[in-house]
Amino acid sequence: MPFEELDLAAFAVCLTCGDLRDGAPREQRCGCQPRTADWEQQWQGQDIAGDLDLCVLCVRDTVTTRTRWSWLGCETCRHVSQVVGERYGHRSALPLGRHSIMNGGAIQPAAPTTEVVGALMAATRQWNALREWREAVFNRLAEPLRAAGPTVPLAEWQRRWPPSLGASVDAFDRYGVVPVPADLGSLRQAQIRFRSSPR
Ligand SMILES: [Zn+2]
Ligand SMILES: [Zn+2]
Repeated sequence: MPFEELDLAAFAVCLTCGDLRDGAPREQRCGCQPRTADWEQQWQGQDIAGDLDLCVLCVRDTVTTRTRWSWLGCETCRHVSQVVGERYGHRSALPLGRHSIMNGGAIQPAAPTTEVVGALMAATRQWNALREWREAVFNRLAEPLRAAGPTVPLAEWQRRWPPSLGASVDAFDRYGVVPVPADLGSLRQAQIRFRSSPR
């Protein structure tokens, strides 16, 4: 099913676990909901029982999650990761792909190693760090919305926390594996705009 056929208006953000739920045409369930055999049936043949997730870095924009080849980072965050990574001579700065092959050439903060096992361990460490980061950011963004109920519509989440280049640069900078170089004008301007915009 192409992304265009997803009814984004039908998705909600679970303010407890941070997953997206509901949705249409298929019902997506978050980590708090039971996974019955009936429900799982509709996801047969797909690597992951869901269509959509929030970006692992900015936690604002969405990513499609159907296959093990799907990206964890949204298009804008991947752009930032690529531009910064290339500046430092890598293909990308952060491992924003679900599959390790997608992350070849990402910056490894650990000592470089030629051993596959060492490289995989470094990738796993980074992946865990990204997961922890996502959880921390999610909790910060979700906090002011929790009083209203256990979930909020995805549209409401994005009204409150709009995805943008500035938001992605800011998330990248705070994540802090490598700084966004000062002379990367197109990214830096977005960041200044973002930080000076009233909130
Ligand atoms: Zn949940
Ligand atoms: Zn993002």
